[in-house]
Amino acid sequence: MTQTDTASSWLDELFPADQSAEIDPDLSHAARIAEVMRPDDPADFTFEGEVTDHGPRSTAKCSCGHPIRYEYTVRHKRSGRQIPIGSTCIASTIPWLQTVGADGLAAALEAAVAKAEADRKEAARLMREAKSSEAVAELSRDYEALRSWYAEARRQARQAGGWVPQFLYGKCPLPATLKPASTAGRTAAGLRRRIATFYKSAAEWLELDAEELRRYQLPALPALTTAGAEAVRKSYALDASKAEKGLDRYPDPSSSGYQWNTARLAAARRRSAAVEVA
Ligand SMILES: [Zn+2]
Repeated sequence: MTQTDTASSWLDELFPADQSAEIDPDLSHAARIAEVMRPDDPADFTFEGEVTDHGPRSTAKCSCGHPIRYEYTVRHKRSGRQIPIGSTCIASTIPWLQTVGADGLAAALEAAVAKAEADRKEAARLMREAKSSEAVAELSRDYEALRSWYAEARRQARQAGGWVPQFLYGKCPLPATLKPASTAGRTAAGLRRRIATFYKSAAEWLELDAEELRRYQLPALPALTTAGAEAVRKSYALDASKAEKGLDRYPDPSSSGYQWNTARLAAARRRSAAVEVA
């Protein structure tokens, strides 16, 4: 053994070389993992369900070198040598493991990846439901506010005597009770649709009948919560995009199509800007 050899093995022990750095980045995931497992037989490695979540700011790396959040630890049965693998590599390594006789390891990893995927989907679903429930609570407040606004507007219109504007005639367009849908997300979507439709027809009517409104001294539309305002703005944005498409179709400024769509676009923008948040 030469002096240099001794020095380098001593250094290697203290500062083990980053294995990932030596692996050709052009190799496939499976080939890179194969490289890391050498000279051991892939069939001699096991996966006992050890998964480490390094969190969203993870600095952990797969044995192949790419950054990972979830680390699956594969261990050599006798030496205990550990090989950290990320989920992407696992998925593409499984077929290779099967061809080299490491079926047990392949099956264990496959089950782990499937479970992780199922867990991730369930967590995402729960997160969506929680967010939707918050939105339902917020939208319900807008719904109730619009219902009381309508009741008050109608009361004032009737009190003023004479002709009651069509918008305030008949039943409130927003029913007193709404059956919840199968999920909070769908309930929120239903509330959004009703709020946007109601708010738009009310805003249109207020604008068209400014004269009448002064006579009746009707209350102003109530301000909306963030969820309600977003629903109304989206709906105006849809109106605006329809008008823009109309302008593409009728580019001639003297055509009635152009004039109508211009007015429609201006109204959508003006009304959208007027949507206030509580
Ligand atoms: Zn990898």
